[in-house]
Amino acid sequence: MQLTEDPKFYEPRDCFLAPIPDIFAAANLLSRAVDAILEKNLTLAEDLIMQADMSALEAHNGKIATYRSREIHRVRLVPGAPPTMKDRTQRMPSYKVELSIYERDGWHCRFCQSPITSKEARKKMHLLLPMAARWGKANSEKHRGLSILESTLDHLLPHSRGGDNSLENLVAACGPCQFGRGNFTLEEVGLNNPFSRPPINDNWDGLRRLVK
Ligand SMILES: [Zn+2]
Repeated sequence: MQLTEDPKFYEPRDCFLAPIPDIFAAANLLSRAVDAILEKNLTLAEDLIMQADMSALEAHNGKIATYRSREIHRVRLVPGAPPTMKDRTQRMPSYKVELSIYERDGWHCRFCQSPITSKEARKKMHLLLPMAARWGKANSEKHRGLSILESTLDHLLPHSRGGDNSLENLVAACGPCQFGRGNFTLEEVGLNNPFSRPPINDNWDGLRRLVK
């Protein structure tokens, strides 16, 4: 990340970079694929899943999740900010708590408001259609739609800075927003607290209907 005192830094922002239309298009394709699976039309599902594997998503993810852009990643020193504790072991809350946070946050990233998806749904898609819903060890072997949309939990005050697993410190986030911030506080990177605006609660279920 780049240290800067550029006045532009102080303009409030909700996320590093607004989601591109391809994210919503991929979410729509994956949702239709889930419907096709539930209707036992695996041929259609396979086609839809492959269409959602878009290279534009990888490029978007790269801009945010790797610290390359001075425009996107601005960091300032905040006097009195909690220090980084190097030996803190990361402990995540139980799966039940994790799920309750995704439900509370309407299966949308609380920063950029992208729709996000259930890990279990991704696993089931991979089981049924391993070639289309590809999921290897390396990032390049992962389906780009399923990868960028996968739900993650984000600590508002990072765990490494003393943040806990309370419901007030955890929000649903997409991969780019979660990995893009690293161990910086919201104030250090100039992001608004996502609790200052309500979550998006529409009919998006994070593809959970596939595993219910
Ligand atoms: Zn996001």
